[in-house]
Amino acid sequence: MAEYDYDVLVIGAGPGGYVAAIRAAQLGLKVACAESRETLGGTCLNVGCIPSKALLHGSEKFAEAVDGTFASYGIKTGPVTLDLAAMQQQKLDSVKQLTGGIEFLFKKNKVTWLKGYAAFEDAHTVSVGGAKVTAKDVVIATGSSVTPLPGVTVDNDAGVVVDSTGALALERVPEHLVVIGGGVIGLELGSVWRRLGAKVTVVEFLDQLLPGMDGDVRKEAAKIFKKQGMELKLSTKVTGVAVKGKTATLTVEPAGGPSTGSGRADVEELTADCVLVAIGRRPNVDGLGLEKIGLELNKRGQIETGHDFRTSVPGVWAIGDVIPGPMLAHKAEDEGVAVAEFIAGQTGIVNHNVIPGVVYTFPEIAGVGLTEEAAKEAGPVKVSKFPMLANSRAKTNHEPDGFVKVIADAKTERVLGVWCIASVAGSMIAEAALAMEFGATAEDIAYTCHAHPTHAEALKEAAMGIGGKPIHI
Ligand code: FAD
Ligand code: NAD
Repeated sequence: MAEYDYDVLVIGAGPGGYVAAIRAAQLGLKVACAESRETLGGTCLNVGCIPSKALLHGSEKFAEAVDGTFASYGIKTGPVTLDLAAMQQQKLDSVKQLTGGIEFLFKKNKVTWLKGYAAFEDAHTVSVGGAKVTAKDVVIATGSSVTPLPGVTVDNDAGVVVDSTGALALERVPEHLVVIGGGVIGLELGSVWRRLGAKVTVVEFLDQLLPGMDGDVRKEAAKIFKKQGMELKLSTKVTGVAVKGKTATLTVEPAGGPSTGSGRADVEELTADCVLVAIGRRPNVDGLGLEKIGLELNKRGQIETGHDFRTSVPGVWAIGDVIPGPMLAHKAEDEGVAVAEFIAGQTGIVNHNVIPGVVYTFPEIAGVGLTEEAAKEAGPVKVSKFPMLANSRAKTNHEPDGFVKVIADAKTERVLGVWCIASVAGSMIAEAALAMEFGATAEDIAYTCHAHPTHAEALKEAAMGIGGKPIHI
């Protein structure tokens, strides 16, 4: 009889966990995946990447019809009305198809789905929904959940103070949506509801939106969102949210506290019929029984691993949002492939220096590698920027906002980072990531033939600016 029930047990079926399970099965291992949710796919497919993009796409089409964009192409429409129930339904249809797709892939690859919450008994024994299961190797891929704001109670059912899950499921368009947190979720979901007719105010603690992104990009993004009608309250903190019936009253003040001598003059009240709390996410480790296997967390509540995703406990591995690094689905997926390969005795590879990030607003905002600020700390750099206004395709499509910025090592001209604001920045950044993965110099990109007319030519022109001059500006 086999010593263990399974070779590999993966806890969590998000992009990290389901990918690890499938890859391990492809490599000939006997695999189970424990998931407590009703459907597979984790945060990303159920309440994250996929439903948010379905609403972003639908709301963008609606906005194009009502804000004069269609008219600018010579398309006349009659009165345009929103059927929010139908827009929500097409979102649910996409989610259902994709989560069902993972179930199909599990069956195809003979991965057993163990339904229920998993908790360690010891390093090789896990109880899942009450039943004990043993495995030679266990991968923790439990993901993350919304970081609560102390003193603020989220109630997604009531729909007044919501987190991202609630904001994805609103049944009516808010009149005034206040978003707490000017990060990725706040700007994506703020964009959805602004396009559908809400007044949107974003309250951000820091002096700029989108922490972690390049400084130029953060400044330009703020200009664009303001132009679109979002009110931005930067360097501002929320000190309280009081809910009465369907109205929330927020108290806000300067992030550093009211200025000396101003008394309460700097303190302001905002009223809203919907408040979205989007101040970050934290790893899911509660109830996992980590104390039973002696696995400690770092100061940020994350599980630390080596480059091979081994934790400090032999036979226990961890990937995705529960470990340090950007909380992104593609990062979790790549770690899923790599951990399975390490478990199977191969060498898995994830280059954490080249993980693209995309904000799916309009225009999209994307980056890979170092920001200009971080690159300058490491040594002398050359920076080149090319505006989308000078790109023929963007101009033809009436998409003048944004730029591509290339940051290169001053001596070798090797590309260290690429940042981009453009309608299709999310697709454009893939080329930059591939170039950086191959150690490209700006010249390599500049001398690669790019199809005309494409937005991607803006990357080529920005790269040309590192060693010489772009042609079209
Ligand atoms: P998760 O996807 O969180 O999956 C973990 C799974 O483990 C969950 O299903 C959970 O139910 C299960 N689980 C937890 N504990 C247990 C347990 N003890 N037993 C059994 N099961 C358990 N990222 C992008 O790259 N692009 C995007 O466009 C994007 N959009 C997003 C939009 C929103 C609104 C949100 C909230 C997130 C978004 N993200 C996006 C982030 C992305 O969803 C996460 O980075 C990604 O899902 C992390 O994958 P994971 O596998 O580590 O964890
Ligand atoms: P975030 O870290 O992107 O942004 C949170 C923002 O809230 C920050 O700007 C922070 O300064 C601000 N903040 C923190 N405390 C505050 C306070 N008390 N008052 C006002 N502002 C405050 O987090 P998020 O937007 O919640 O997203 C969570 C994670 O989900 C991110 O790590 C992101 O990578 C991931 N995600 C990715 C995508 C994508 O890839 N397109 C989309 C959505 C979410």
